[in-house]
Amino acid sequence: MPDAPTLVKCLIWDLDNTLWQGTLLEDPGVRLPDEIRDVIITLDARGILQSIASKNDHDLAWQRLEDLGIAEYFVHPRIGWGRKSDSVCGIADELNFAMNTIAFIDDLPSERAEVSFRAAEVRCYPAEQAASLPGRPEFRPDVVTVDARRRRQMYQASFRRDAERESFAGPDEDFLRSLELVMAIKRADEEDLSRVEELTLRTSQMNATGVHYSDAALRGLLADPGHEVLTVTLSDRFGPHGAVGVMLLEYRPGVWHLKLLATSCRVVSFGAGTVILNWLIDQAARAGVHLAADFRRTDRNRMMDIAYRFAGFAEDPCACLTSTSPASTASTASAGERDGVQCLHLAAAPRPGPTTMRLTAPDLTAGRVPVR
Ligand SMILES: [Zn+2]
Repeated sequence: MPDAPTLVKCLIWDLDNTLWQGTLLEDPGVRLPDEIRDVIITLDARGILQSIASKNDHDLAWQRLEDLGIAEYFVHPRIGWGRKSDSVCGIADELNFAMNTIAFIDDLPSERAEVSFRAAEVRCYPAEQAASLPGRPEFRPDVVTVDARRRRQMYQASFRRDAERESFAGPDEDFLRSLELVMAIKRADEEDLSRVEELTLRTSQMNATGVHYSDAALRGLLADPGHEVLTVTLSDRFGPHGAVGVMLLEYRPGVWHLKLLATSCRVVSFGAGTVILNWLIDQAARAGVHLAADFRRTDRNRMMDIAYRFAGFAEDPCACLTSTSPASTASTASAGERDGVQCLHLAAAPRPGPTTMRLTAPDLTAGRVPVR
């Protein structure tokens, strides 16, 4: 079976006689065909970003895009008189996307050749193929999650946030408060798990356990009363950050066992890991149980190591840890995966809520009688 094609993450449009019909400098009323407008909207809804590489007068072209009501669909547009390959490579660089995830569409063979010469991995399409792009496999992701549907808005919010952070003169904590961050922890459903798939599949900087749970393993535990699969989303006044974390917790007599905690590196600077751990510690304290947490040091999860130690987790021997049920451990991680995993421990005491964000979360203690 042939491998599925690498998906396009950003399509870069030429303007004259590609996106619109005509040459703007000769005809200020260039026309946007309905079928091209449909392509733009369709790809945007699939989470594929779009940008522009056009040799044009920047202000005139941008004004025309605004008049046509489509300017908001494009991120990092490059409109000027430089080489197309410089524009394409610059856009890929700003997005931090690999070249083989970039597509470029232009009516001029010479421009496509110039881009191909400098960036061979970029997929180039002639303008007459524009309407057929959404039907091509490289433009058709298998799953389109709620976060993918608003990926562009999330990018645009992050540009505005970064710009504000750069110009903010006060202490970091004051900047965090000015963002009006809202964290929502919730019991996961199938849709939520799709949103955190990349956190569990990829080696994340903040995957505390260093143990990887497959999407299927997590899905299999959704209905298990002995386990809790929780997802974390974050938003602020600039817009949503989307799903940024996932937790897997096992309830055992006298101790809750945190088997997986992964957060997106995008939210490390917001202290998300610490907020999540403090909430969990407070919940455990209310339930009258201790906490155990799997941890395997990797070369990429130092930040989470620090977050655990800062929260008070240590390698204490405690009677609660001997209640580890081999059967339940084996159900989610093979014996080999357990190698090198430390079990950190904490006798939980109540914690105050976060001061830098608002938190909504389920009450895990509901229906659970405190162990005395
Ligand atoms: Zn204990």
